[in-house]
Parts: sequence; C-alpha cells; structure tokens
Amino acid sequence: MAVKVEIPTALRSFTEGAARVDVEGVTVAQALGGLADRFPGLRRHLFTEDGHVRSFVSVYVNDEDIRYLGREATPLKGGDTVRIIPSIAGGSPGAVAYPSLSRLGRPPAPGAPKGLTREQLRRYSRQLLLPEVGVSGQRKLLGAKVLVVGAGGLGSPLALYLAAAGVGKLGLVDFDTVDESNLQRQVLYTTPDVGRAKLEAAEGHLKALNPEVNVVRHEGRLTSANAFEVLSGYDVVVDGTDNFPTRYLVNDAAVLLRKPVVYGSIYRFEGQVTVFDAKSGPCYRCLYPEPPPAGLVPSCAEGGVLGVLPGIIGTLQALETLKLILGKGDSLLGRLLLFDGLTGSFHELKVRKSPDCPICGPTPTQTKLIDYEAFCGVGATPSGPEITPRELKEQLDAGAPVSLVDVREPGEFELYHLPASRLIPRAQLADRLGELSTADDLVLVCKMGGRSAQAAEFLRSMGFAKVRNLKGGLDAWTADVDPSFPSF
Ligand SMILES: [Zn+2]
Repeated sequence: MAVKVEIPTALRSFTEGAARVDVEGVTVAQALGGLADRFPGLRRHLFTEDGHVRSFVSVYVNDEDIRYLGREATPLKGGDTVRIIPSIAGGSPGAVAYPSLSRLGRPPAPGAPKGLTREQLRRYSRQLLLPEVGVSGQRKLLGAKVLVVGAGGLGSPLALYLAAAGVGKLGLVDFDTVDESNLQRQVLYTTPDVGRAKLEAAEGHLKALNPEVNVVRHEGRLTSANAFEVLSGYDVVVDGTDNFPTRYLVNDAAVLLRKPVVYGSIYRFEGQVTVFDAKSGPCYRCLYPEPPPAGLVPSCAEGGVLGVLPGIIGTLQALETLKLILGKGDSLLGRLLLFDGLTGSFHELKVRKSPDCPICGPTPTQTKLIDYEAFCGVGATPSGPEITPRELKEQLDAGAPVSLVDVREPGEFELYHLPASRLIPRAQLADRLGELSTADDLVLVCKMGGRSAQAAEFLRSMGFAKVRNLKGGLDAWTADVDPSFPSF
C-alpha cells in the first residue's frame, strides 16, 4: 500500500533533502519503519530504543493526530498522507469554540467620556471602521494587557503591530542587547541600536510609534522564580521565544495561572502558529508532552532564518492576540497552523486537549513550576577534556598531529572555518563514525563550544578515547588567538 510521508525541514537532512517520500505500509508503524529503513539516520529521531514513536514527534494521518486514531497501529490505505510534525524552538475549523474574551476590556473609569478622544479617533480611524472593532473594540484594545516574551524575530513584529493597534499595556521580556546580526529580521531595532539593551531600544521605538501605549520592561530572563509574578499582570501571553526551556516555562505558568498563550515558532522556512488555553482547549504539553533531546533541533543561529519568516509568523500571532482581545473571529485554539515559506502554502492540523496531559489533564502529574533547563537537558554541558584556543594554536604551530572536526551546520562551515578542519555536522556524526579513527587525536569545534562538547561526549561513549573539545569554540578563537578570524 503506497502512502505519502511529508518530511519536515528539520529532518530533511536525513532524507537527502526530500520533502515527500512514498513508502509502503498498511499501518503507521510499518510506513515509518519503512521510511527509517530507507533513511537509517532518521530512525533515532523517530523511534525510541524499544521501537516506539518518540513523544516529541507528532504524527498525523490525513490531518488527524494518530494518538486519537489507533496510534502506531493506525491503518493506512493507498494514497493516505502521513505527516511528521516535530516540535520546533520551535484540525478543522470550528473544532473548539473559543469563549469571548470581551471581559478583558477595562471598564471605563467613572465619569470618563464613553467614546474616544479626537486624537484616538484619528489614529485608529482605519480599524474603527471595521465592524469587528469599532469604538467598543478600540476601548477593549486600550484596556488590554499583553505580555510578549522575547523581543527578537517574532517579538519585533508582534510588539510593533500591537503597539500600533493601541494595546494599552504591552509588557516585554528580554535580557539581550542588540547585535548587528539581529537587524536582518528583528525589525524593532535600527543600526544605531547595536550594543544597546533590547528593551531600552524597543521602548523608545514603540513609544515613538504610539506614545499612548504603556510599555513595561521586564529586563532579564523569565525563570521559574519570577514567571508567576511577571505573567500575572497580563490578560494574554504571547510566546516569542527561541528555546525549549522558556517555551515550557511559559506554557506551564500560563496553564497554572489560567491564561491564554499565543504560540509561534519557526525553523528555516517553516512556521507554526496556534493558541493554547488550558481552560477551554489544549496547551503546549498536550501537543508535545516532552521536549526533544538538547541539541537535536538547531537554533536560528545554527539553522539560519530568512527575516520575513518570523515577520509572517509574528504578525499572525499579533492577529490572534487582537482577535482574543476583541472576542471576534475564530481563534486558532485547537488548530495548529503550519506555514511553508518555500512552497507558499498553509496547512492546518487539529490539536486536542490531551487526557494524559501532565499539566492540564484531569490527573496532572505536575502542579508547580520545575527546573526547565534540566527538563530540557540544557545547561548541563557535558564536561570532558578541553583544549583552549591558545593551546590549540601552539600545538598546530608545532605541527602536532591534531585532527580538527567542525560539527556545525554546512552553511556555517561555508561562511568560515579553521583551515585544517573538516566538516561533520553533529546530527550526522552517528552515521559517519567510519570516517574517524579512534587512534586520532581529535579536537571538536563549533561556534561557542556547546555543540562540540555534546559531540565529544557522544564520541567518547562510542569508544573514542582521544577527544577534546575546543573551549569556547570559534568565538574564543577569534577573541584569544586571531581577531581577524570571522565571528558572527
Ligand atoms: Zn495540556
């Protein structure tokens, strides 16, 4: 029985770039097994050691989640489409009715004029003309309190459009400073902002766009210690983050505080958008109970991203946020909207509230916030033998037989690399062990030393005794050995 399997971008490096693969199988297990037979590198991404489909991979047959069909035993018929949706760091219409959030609007202060000021009428005139907005809708927007977590690629269009639309209180969470490499997609910032704290720059631009908006800066990282305090001042939380620990933290805190989350994530040319609200629908954990292992899914810094992609996804998040505040239209609650920028196509999948959800299910196993770095397996960079850039330079100059292996992505390697290094991307390491010798003195290299430390740990587990990690990666090489070596 021939069926079609749609391969997401994140896994296409294992299918020789194929986005669609025809396989044989009368069940999902057979089809995915056949796929893994043909592309062995895929197996450990799709299946656990004991042969079950991994929990951070959702599988759909003809747009229905197999967890609500027959799971891996779900029968297939000729022509069916099997879709693999991994979580990235990112249904049918009307499946879940969304309750009106019209109560979000702050009631007018006693004695205040019922309408809007002359300036407000002028500023918002184009949206006031919409029957879905009008004066009452605008008053809801002016009374709304929205928190945007992450002021980066997604947060930029989000903050700009929400401020322009007159959302009264706009909170921003970020800890970063503006880097030159941000400007290609983070349109909230301009060239003179490079080096400034993001939130300071953001507040200036947003106030210039709309002085009426109360921009609240939450400088620093969102953590389990401060999440309740930060989120509690808002009606809607918008997830514009770029990492799994913060995504799970935002979800869990919002579920426990009973607040909706407007979710968006991107990977290269693909994006996902949906609305989570555990009161009346699914949460992020209903879709992905657990994160993928640290390092499996590359970040934007590793995988690359075209600036318009977060622009499109962030703008869709802004739209969903405005709909929630206005209580108009059909929210994306219960629907995962997928966007493929390369084919220019949208696709929609049903997301159900999971009866087994560890945090919003009927018998939750988690009732408070946890350590999300540990949960996602990050922060615990494996420790093993390391070599500093200076020591490496001395050894190379002395002609020591050091074998340099660069574990970054091909696109990163093409931009710059150490002359004597060869490329084996971390994800391919398991399949390309034959190219390495346990007798060699291996030094593993990446941008900052984190990915290479994980790769070194993996090689040691595979019997390579002489493996060292370049401490601090190529960034440290630039800082300590060769300032002319590129670093970005
Ligand atoms: Zn849930």
